[in-house]
Amino acid sequence: MFARKRTTYADGTREVYATITPVNSKIPWLPSELHPGQRAERCPRCGAIGLIPWTLRRDPKSVTPVRTWVCTQCQITEERPEPD
Ligand SMILES: [Zn+2]
Repeated sequence: MFARKRTTYADGTREVYATITPVNSKIPWLPSELHPGQRAERCPRCGAIGLIPWTLRRDPKSVTPVRTWVCTQCQITEERPEPD
């Protein structure tokens, strides 16, 4: 599912086409807390240090696996290519 999504980057806000994970799909829960020692980044939506790497999937059309990141504070999800 593709949808337009407004994303705030450090250098401004851009509207991008992003893959949105529908709520209540195959994912039964979203993480809501950081584990000790968990690597986390600043969330582009709520600004909390709570964006964590979550599920990994492979797109058949791409050689690069895609990592879904999720914010433990506001539950926004973001998909990024996973670096090797
Ligand atoms: Zn957030």
